[in-house]
Amino acid sequence: MYIVNMIKTINKAFSFRLYPTLEQEKTLASFFGQARFVYNYFLRQRIDYYATNKGKEKQSLNYHDTAKMLTELKRQPEYIWLNESNSQSLQQSLRHLDNAYNNFFNKRTEFPNFKKKHNKQSFLVPQHFDIDFEKKLLHIPKFEPIKIILHREIEGIMKSINISKTPSGKYFASVLCEVEKVIKPKKKGNRIGIDLGLKSFFVASNGERVDAPQYLRKSEDKLKRLQRHLSCKVKGSNRRNKARIKVARIHDKIFNQRNDFLHKLSHRLVAENQSIFAEGLHVKGIMANHHLAKSVQDSGWSEFVRQLKYKSEWNGVCFGQIDRFFPSSKRCFHCGWINESLTLKDREWICQCGQVIDRDFNAAQNVLLFGQKMVGRELPKLKRSGRGGAVMPLVELRSPFQSLIGGGSSHSMEENNVRI
Ligand SMILES: [Zn+2]
Repeated sequence: MYIVNMIKTINKAFSFRLYPTLEQEKTLASFFGQARFVYNYFLRQRIDYYATNKGKEKQSLNYHDTAKMLTELKRQPEYIWLNESNSQSLQQSLRHLDNAYNNFFNKRTEFPNFKKKHNKQSFLVPQHFDIDFEKKLLHIPKFEPIKIILHREIEGIMKSINISKTPSGKYFASVLCEVEKVIKPKKKGNRIGIDLGLKSFFVASNGERVDAPQYLRKSEDKLKRLQRHLSCKVKGSNRRNKARIKVARIHDKIFNQRNDFLHKLSHRLVAENQSIFAEGLHVKGIMANHHLAKSVQDSGWSEFVRQLKYKSEWNGVCFGQIDRFFPSSKRCFHCGWINESLTLKDREWICQCGQVIDRDFNAAQNVLLFGQKMVGRELPKLKRSGRGGAVMPLVELRSPFQSLIGGGSSHSMEENNVRI
């Protein structure tokens, strides 16, 4: 197989803490408010438009319709305050809304929600910004320079900056950069299949088991107590606000710990392996199952898969996701027999071929086997890059391979019959 290096432009975000003055905090609050208002106002417009025009030739509003409406709106005396914000930031709110709609229609997310004041706030600065690296100041339109903590260097060309405030009251600037990266496909290394479990965070085809982080459950008692405190405080009171910030801080802490765990783990897997195969999990379907939702949130599966995917791409590692209907738990790795009577409770079972099957380990081995067959089929179809070299395939196949599954048994699997 002949694979050469390639240069790829990747997007990388660098996040920095901001320390605005009290005066700047007030202006930021009004900018957040305007971005939120525009998002919510046009979400309402889009819902109403659809309700009255359903079935007609034009039944829904798109980004361009709402952008025109926004220009009109800003001319009306009662909405003149919307002109305080950077107009591009407000247009960006419309784009976010449009993306939220598209994600919903492509079945990636739930229907967009109205944004609330106490959730994470943000607005985007698409241009006319600058960072003074010597004085450690952020320049954005309509603001005096804001103090920024530059704890690391920025790579590439800055494209946009997202300013945000967490529910616990911290301010951040996330700088999105375009970075040119030479990607050298890894020629040596192991191949691994991973089964994302509920008892263990994952089980690998080499036998490794990594336990799920239990941060959320450990902090849960404290969180519950604080949430009870919060619920008995009078709405709008100072005490309620303090209790809300305490809850938000625990969430921050859990988020950071989990993120740290996932980054270390995905980094290690990418460093150790040449090929990584995981399942294409339908996390949304699992989340709908009440009893499992906690564990899924706790372990952060979809974030982990996202990290594995981009880190593999950046490091020339082949990453493949197996179709989620592939019955990797039900199929015996040794003989290929499908155990249709397997339930969620069965951690171990005996196959008709006599093997004692450990559910998760067996699944991980199947994932590896299936992944390798999948890549084998894909390799001859290498795309040609503009520079004349072949591109390392980042495989993401969704169609089940009937020959591997053995007969048509996968046909009977229901759309929401998610394999755990
Ligand atoms: Zn067997």
